[in-house]
Amino acid sequence: MGLNDILSRMNKAERAAGRPEGATKLIAVSKVQPNDRVRAVLEQGHRIFGENRVQEAAGKWPEFRENFDGIELHLIGPLQTNKARQAMELAQAIHSVDRPKLAKTLARLAQETGACPDLFIQVNTGEEPQKAGILPADADGFVAECRALDLPIKGLMCIPPVDEEPSLHFALLAKIAACNGLEGLSMGMSGDFERAIALGATHIRVGSAIFGDRVPPSG
Ligand SMILES: *Cc1c(COP(=O)(O)O)cnc(C)c1O
Repeated sequence: MGLNDILSRMNKAERAAGRPEGATKLIAVSKVQPNDRVRAVLEQGHRIFGENRVQEAAGKWPEFRENFDGIELHLIGPLQTNKARQAMELAQAIHSVDRPKLAKTLARLAQETGACPDLFIQVNTGEEPQKAGILPADADGFVAECRALDLPIKGLMCIPPVDEEPSLHFALLAKIAACNGLEGLSMGMSGDFERAIALGATHIRVGSAIFGDRVPPSG
């Protein structure tokens, strides 16, 4: 476990899949991790991090940015429209564009500020009622809607159901992306990132396998 172990496993998976080295970016998911663990990974030279809550990201990243250059922050969790402005200021990428209302808000703010992070549309590949994301059947229409709003859609993101083979979901996501001419595929976490790389992931989101188990914020 740890950063170097994950990087070497990524290399191996890329080679096994016949993909070029570096084809997949590692997003180190630092949510709920103690700052000393995050700092240790920064000191090892890693610069791409993921957070799932705007509030938490706003609390810890400005200070890390004062001390380390070139940090790229990816917001991977559900985004409320009233936090969209703050999210756009903080993050270089948002992986959870999942509904028309949010797309419209992001488009309005992008026009107003003249800037927009890279965007990924979250697809609920398992069609789970409790999970965010656009349903697979609605994905083509939603991609078109986002493009009509001039949003910089780079790709798709999914979180497979915990009790199903993730490869089926990664393959479905890759298929929807290919049909829509999208290159980015944000898929794969600690337990399944090698399978995601085999199926074309461009961004994997790995937390506990780098930092260790998440420590609950209180007690
Ligand atoms: C927490 C989280 C991850 C990382 O999960 P691990 O199993 O710790 O690697 C990846 N993606 C999302 C959306 C998350 O919320």
